[in-house]
Amino acid sequence: MFLKGYFFLISGPSGVGKGTVINALKKHHPVFVFPLSHTTRPRRPGEKDGEVYHFISKKVFEAEIARGNFLEWAQVHGKDYYGTLKKPILEALEAGKTVIREVDVQGFHSISRAIPKKNLVTIFLKAESMEKLIARIAKRGKLPPEELKRRLESAQKELKQANFFDYQVWSLENKIPECVKEVENIILEQCRCRGLPISY
Ligand code: 5GP
Repeated sequence: MFLKGYFFLISGPSGVGKGTVINALKKHHPVFVFPLSHTTRPRRPGEKDGEVYHFISKKVFEAEIARGNFLEWAQVHGKDYYGTLKKPILEALEAGKTVIREVDVQGFHSISRAIPKKNLVTIFLKAESMEKLIARIAKRGKLPPEELKRRLESAQKELKQANFFDYQVWSLENKIPECVKEVENIILEQCRCRGLPISY
């Protein structure tokens, strides 16, 4: 496997703002590749298939696992499956492109084993407190209490993994633009060092 491109992996607990950061990066840098993930979780109101996720059944997901098509997959928050396919990511990296994706911390560990260190840059987003995370998750819409409990249990475990990442970035209440800017600066600086394109 000869990879010329760079994979920027963004992780952090549920509610910390990974999706918001990725959406801003997508808008500012269409030259980067933002691969979709597959998930078995139900769609939230307003979510469309093919924007961030392909929503598939557990049966189809398990068939993809059996075929070995995922670069990584995990059962996130102890329940639904999430996974990124090998093909689009490896093709983009082989072509020398910059790939950006958010995954949970399990996905981070799997991708760290699958992608050579020289092609991987990892960024962990962290919030000021568990209380703030709870408030942010609650704002997304009414989650069943069981689901909220699972997300908070994962968040507690995930926060302990921050030191394994190349970078840690604060995602503070009402300071999302600052967080986006910091993540963007990390990516652009790394791209510049490596002579990768950052705009059309
Ligand atoms: P949500 O259900 O809120 O969209 O995402 C739940 C969690 O799954 C988030 O922490 C998100 O980063 C993570 N996630 C999204 N896509 C993937 C993926 O392809 N693989 C893994 N391991 N985690 C993912």
